[in-house]
Amino acid sequence: MTNCIFCKIRDREIPGNIRYEDDLCLAFDDIHPKARVHILLITKKHIPTIADLEEGDEKLIGHLVKTAKELAKKFECKGYQLLFNVGKEAGQIVFHVHLHLMGS
Ligand code: AMP
Ligand code: ZN
Repeated sequence: MTNCIFCKIRDREIPGNIRYEDDLCLAFDDIHPKARVHILLITKKHIPTIADLEEGDEKLIGHLVKTAKELAKKFECKGYQLLFNVGKEAGQIVFHVHLHLMGS
């Protein structure tokens, strides 16, 4: 998707501090961290928001949650928040599905 900042990180057109990657997702540090660990997990597929999910995409979202759980363990988070902002009214600023992992 042209002009999507997270597609550009996925495609290595702009830098990101990448923590994990597989066929379905990419995880990198949020540039403005709000917690000791603040990682964004994106679907490799460009989907603008959770509201745009189509049949079959649910496995991608389940995979993001599973990967977030594993990263939280790897980075020794005692507790953590998992958050999707959906729509600009909810504060979404990047329109490529991403799960915030924020852990202490
Ligand atoms: P949201 O409000 O859910 O759309 O969150 C978007 C997040 O992306 C914010 O927490 C930003 O700090 C973060 N962000 C924006 N640009 C970048 C970037 N180039 N690299 C890493 N994180 C970014
Ligand atoms: Zn994108």
